[in-house]
Order: sequence, then structure tokens, then C-alpha cells
Amino acid sequence: MTVHARTVLFCMIIVGGVGGACVALTAYTPQAVADHTHFLLTNPYTTPTASGDQNGVIGHSRGWSSPLIPSHDLYGYRITDPESSYEKTTIVMISGNHNGEHSGNWALQGMVDFLAGDDPYAAQLRQHADVFVYPLVNPDGRFLGSGRGNPELTSAGLGNDHNRVWNRTGVSTIDAFTAAMKYDTGGIVDYFFDFHSTFFQASNFVTLTPELGDSRFVQELRAIAPEVGVVYSDGTCGMARIWSMSTNGLNADYAYTMEQHMIGEPADYLALGRTYGIALYNTLIPEPATFLLFLLGLPLIFYQRHKSVGLRPQSNHCEENTARSFRFTLQSPVRSACGGVVQLPSEINSS
Ligand SMILES: [Zn+2]
Repeated sequence: MTVHARTVLFCMIIVGGVGGACVALTAYTPQAVADHTHFLLTNPYTTPTASGDQNGVIGHSRGWSSPLIPSHDLYGYRITDPESSYEKTTIVMISGNHNGEHSGNWALQGMVDFLAGDDPYAAQLRQHADVFVYPLVNPDGRFLGSGRGNPELTSAGLGNDHNRVWNRTGVSTIDAFTAAMKYDTGGIVDYFFDFHSTFFQASNFVTLTPELGDSRFVQELRAIAPEVGVVYSDGTCGMARIWSMSTNGLNADYAYTMEQHMIGEPADYLALGRTYGIALYNTLIPEPATFLLFLLGLPLIFYQRHKSVGLRPQSNHCEENTARSFRFTLQSPVRSACGGVVQLPSEINSS
């Protein structure tokens, strides 16, 4: 299959509107994921994860006989500056839970290309961030092309939504990726991003639990991209976003579902992914405290005006010194509700 050559046609319903539109977006196929991963692994800041082999393969999907779905390689890779001695923020990013949500993968690629690229801000970010990427968590579903699950999932009695079963076992992709993420990160991460698409709105938005509404990343993203909306949802325990925050998952402090509309071109989503990367930079990289103040014995002056990138208004945040130090421990109902409880998937929405 020719990479990036296939397009997917879909019709968008404008919620509250009087009509819709049909558009084509270049498909992000399993082969595109394989090719992009192979390309990235030639980059000096991208390596296979500890869970994977030298090609970044962390496992294999089940595949299926009827309809015929080949078993797919499952990929993971790590982006960081191995020479950096800073304490690093641990970040996990995934995409491809849902079959036709190509714009989510394009946005993830945009953020990945920024993180691994030549941008001097990315170089600084790599010194402070350890990023684990699992770019296509449901390749059998993506191969099918439409829907939200795959035959293996349905056959196991787990419904038809790959993003409602992250707290379950017995599905090849879920078993492989949850094990890989825990092994690669030690089971404790700071940030978790799950990239999706939305077919029902013409806007891009972030879904998050209400207590994260004033989290730093959201503030920074909204500062440089105010058109990106914010949607609050407690979700369900089987969603990747919620699972990641649970004690049975990755103990993530911050988890976001990044929703992209499907009415743009790949270049639009690649650019949006870069914007997410800049927001992450603005979140994690404080402006160094004025060295002269320390020389003068004024270390308690923590006026740390943020070094901001992008179209960002003047900010007067007072922040802590390092990314890790402003991490806070959430007493989230999500954690207590999902920590040791297995729930059947029930809710269906766009996340
Ligand atoms: Zn989705």
C-alpha cells in the first residue's frame, strides 16, 4: 500500500447546524506508522523503548480471518536528550484508538516531529522531557477503516470500542501496550496524551477531567491557541485517558484527550501538533532564575516570568523552578473509582 496515498471520505454533521459537508483527508495507515517510526529511529534523539526491539516493535496485534485482517506490528519509541542531566518529566502519547480518526494521528505526528526535530525550543524541551510514543494502538481497527473497535475485541465480549477497554485484559493490543507503557515508564508518568478525531464538530478541543481545567498545559495551550476548546468529562475507567490516571494504570497526574476535527489537510494537523509541542514547552521550561539574583543572595525571589513561545500575551505567573516541582498530587475521584475496579464499557461519546 502506498503510504499516505489513500484518502478517506467522510461526511461531517454540523451539530446545531442545518447541514453537513463531505471532505477527504489523507489516511494515516498502519504502513504510514511503520514508515514514520523507521524514519524517526534514524534520529539521534529517538530510540526504541525498553519494551521493543531495534525496529521499535513492542508486540503484534491479533489480526483476524474474516474479515481478513493481517497481524500488525505494534510500535513504540522514545524521544529525549540522552545527554541531559536534568530531572525529566515523563510523558506518554498515544493515538489510533479509533479506526477512522486519521486527523488524530496527523496531529500526533506534528507533535512528534517537533519534539524530535531541529527547533531550538524542542532541543531544550528534550533536555527536560522523556517522551514515550505509541502511535497506533489499534492497527487492526485502522486497517478496517471505520468503526471504533475490531473483531478480536468484539469476539472477546468487550464491545466495539477500543477506548473503553484499557482496564481490561485478553485483547492483544491492550495487553501489549499496557505492559509496554508500564515497563517503559515504571508505571508512573506525569503527562498522558491520547490523540483522537471528532466527526461532529468543526473545532479542535481538549477533553479532560474538571480538576485539570486550570492545569498549566491547558493555560499555555489556550494562550497560544485560544480557538482550541476545552471539554470536561469524567469519562469511564476503560478510557485510556482515565486508565492512565488510575493506580492500575500509569498514575498520570495530567491526562488529556486531544480531539481534532476532520475538515482540514494533513498540514493543518501537523501544524496543530507543533502548537501542542510549543504549549508543552511553555508548560515545562521555566525561564532560568536570574543568576545575578542568586549571586546577590536573593534566592527567595521566585519571580519566574515564563519564557513563552508563540503568540502569547504577557504572562506574570509565579512558578516553581522545575517542571517536576510543580507537579501536584491529585486526589481525583478517578483514581479512587478506577484504581482497583474493573468496569464494563458503557458510555459512548466522541473521546
Ligand atoms: Zn476517538
